[in-house]
Amino acid sequence: MSPHDESLIDLARRYWLPVYRPREMVLDHGRGARLWDVQGRDYVDFGAGIAVNGLGHQDPDLLAALTAQAHKLWHSSNVFYTEPPLLLAQELVEASGFAERVFLCNSGAEANEAAIKLVRRCATAQGRAPDRRVIVTFRGSFHGRTLATVTATAQPKYQEGYEPLPGGFRYIDFNDVSALEGAFAPGDVAAVMLEPVQGEGGVRPAAPGFLAQVRELCDRHGALLVLDEIQCGMARTGTLFAHAQDGVTPDIVTLAKALGAGFPIGAMLAGPKVAQVMQVGAHGSTFGGNPLAAAVARVALAKLGSPAVLLNVERQANQLREGLAAIDAELGLFEEVRGRGLMLGAALAGAHRGKAGAILDMAAAHGVLLLQAGPDVLRLLPPLTITDEELAEGLERLRAALAAFLAPDGETP
Ligand SMILES: *Cc1c(COP(=O)(O)O)cnc(C)c1O
Repeated sequence: MSPHDESLIDLARRYWLPVYRPREMVLDHGRGARLWDVQGRDYVDFGAGIAVNGLGHQDPDLLAALTAQAHKLWHSSNVFYTEPPLLLAQELVEASGFAERVFLCNSGAEANEAAIKLVRRCATAQGRAPDRRVIVTFRGSFHGRTLATVTATAQPKYQEGYEPLPGGFRYIDFNDVSALEGAFAPGDVAAVMLEPVQGEGGVRPAAPGFLAQVRELCDRHGALLVLDEIQCGMARTGTLFAHAQDGVTPDIVTLAKALGAGFPIGAMLAGPKVAQVMQVGAHGSTFGGNPLAAAVARVALAKLGSPAVLLNVERQANQLREGLAAIDAELGLFEEVRGRGLMLGAALAGAHRGKAGAILDMAAAHGVLLLQAGPDVLRLLPPLTITDEELAEGLERLRAALAAFLAPDGETP
């Protein structure tokens, strides 16, 4: 690290609430699936800002939409109409194939908060007592950091120390149908909420048929199905909505991350059973659906849902899987590679468990940025527009980094 980087990073050490521990580098700009740091070193981006930069960096159409809207109006509040969020809502409903209405907000946690509030309002409308409005969620899930969404997140490490947590959640094992039947047994379940592919919890897809079984149990017990597609949606898994591959119709879907392709925005999509439940005054947001974010998201939605991007996801997902298999055949680091589309997790085998952070440092030093999903899983989420050449170079750098990681002196053999 240069003295310049060191002095910038010192500002974080001194002034930030120390809740993050970023890699020791200062990024400056990007283009496509490449990033440059303030020193001018380049990196292949296999993380896409945690599945946010679906169209890579400096997509010309996103830039044009952002700057055009920036020269018109940035914000109006929901006391007035502007054009972009009106058109975005229509486009989201039409693209979804199930939703009737949309609530726009600014982040994933806010979208899930809206979903949780909508579930409770529905329960109220059905005359369910407050203790009969349980939302079932799954171990390993991640739904956000606000108090309600961190409570929905069935992972103690995110909850510890924040008690008292709001009530009304019940946790079971992911992909466990009999546990779900058991969770319904008391007759108090208002909704089941899950990610079609768990992201933070280790890149774990729902087992084939699981979502359909969840849907069926929800219907049998009069409960709503809420899908958190904040990470796995927006074409990440090869279809605009991940659940299209599971053949289910949800009642509520939440989106954020790649919805703005780098500009903060979230959305909750509501299907016919729930679209009319919240009326004037029931919920709101100062910034939600602001014209800048909505103008960018309209372009992101159109491009991410295009055949060109969806085909590229399929193509590059195959290349990435093949590349990881070749690295594994040579170096023997992985227990399995799992996921869907360009949402892949490489689970570290035996002796290498717990080393994901060290491997990420080594990867950055070799010019490729990736993520982890816990200490045992390397998580790869490249931009969905990554090219053959960028992907091949990222894989080569990753191979070199992993070889260096295995070398006794930490150097490339
Ligand atoms: C990132 C994420 C969230 C939270 O989104 P924020 O924008 O960080 O609030 C919720 N659910 C899933 C599945 C996520 O990956």
